[in-house]
Amino acid sequence: MDIVVSGIRPTGNLHLGNYFGAVKNFIKMQNEHKCYFFIADYHSLTTHPTPADLHGNVKNVLVNFLAAGLDPEKATLYIQSDIPEVTELYLLLNMNAYLGELERVASFKEKVRTQPDNINAGLLTYPTLMAADVLIHKAAKVPVGKDQEQHLEMMRNFANRFNRMYKVEYFPAPVAFNFGEELIKIPGLDGSTKMSKSEGDYNAIYLSDEPEVIRKKIMRAVTDAGPTVENQPKPQPVENLFQLMKVLSTTDTYEHFNNLYNTCQIRYGDLKKQLAEDVIVFTHPFREKIKELFVNDNYLHKVASLGAEKARESTSRTIREVREIIGFKVF
Ligand code: ADP
Repeated sequence: MDIVVSGIRPTGNLHLGNYFGAVKNFIKMQNEHKCYFFIADYHSLTTHPTPADLHGNVKNVLVNFLAAGLDPEKATLYIQSDIPEVTELYLLLNMNAYLGELERVASFKEKVRTQPDNINAGLLTYPTLMAADVLIHKAAKVPVGKDQEQHLEMMRNFANRFNRMYKVEYFPAPVAFNFGEELIKIPGLDGSTKMSKSEGDYNAIYLSDEPEVIRKKIMRAVTDAGPTVENQPKPQPVENLFQLMKVLSTTDTYEHFNNLYNTCQIRYGDLKKQLAEDVIVFTHPFREKIKELFVNDNYLHKVASLGAEKARESTSRTIREVREIIGFKVF
């Protein structure tokens, strides 16, 4: 059993891609490891949300992840800003984080390029805060995508540097959590290979979408004029719809439409209608749960308090030990 930490960015509702690509793995992980999942609201301040947006975004992801199946009893699910020890470790790690290495981080360089008018110190030190998030629990593993490998490398550098500087074997150097199976990638409805919330309203289907919205989005999905030769390869947008069907519909349904395609008898309208109904059935329990949780502030308060209490068992211990190692002494 490993100690695993994963941050959740408070950015909008979960779509099917997030669910199959990330959340389903979290749900599996929480049964097998000691998992800490936190909503990264400190991190989100780099983009300066309004107070109402900040709270709304955190509530939204909390509700979505609970509805999707994260279990606050099994995992430790907490809000980053409820744990002041994280900020203390962030400050301490920053004393040994060098400007050169922070400036070299690809995601930072990308921000410098895309938003030159908001390059703040929080963005520069994003990797130190990420390291603090993980090291505060002395975690061994972090479930990350390829794009996060550099951040993970920095966490290891900060951990090893601290150990060397104080001649201790204190922080473990975290490695990537390997799911051990091929990750499912969910395609977008607009013909793009990836469902993503940054690709506009008609690319992604959210767990919270109402049936009417789901029907509308799927009916608008991109297709082509239809096959003219038997067994011809499917162009990307059509392949996308079949891929969604493979994940969400029964094998029989998939085979039925696949045969119609291969014999040039397919009517995309029928395929879309069927896919929409299957998506509606699949998302039904999530949609209902999201609505129920949204109006249950009392329960959300309990979840957040329980999470903070469980998280602080390790964060307060780590900070106490780190302060001692560094040489802070009580007079
Ligand atoms: P988005 O691209 O919509 O902003 P994020 O980058 O916030 O999504 O991704 C959050 C998590 O969901 C990541 O772990 C990512 O790998 C996963 N994810 C996002 N989109 C997909 C997708 N289309 N298929 C599979 N996994 C996805």
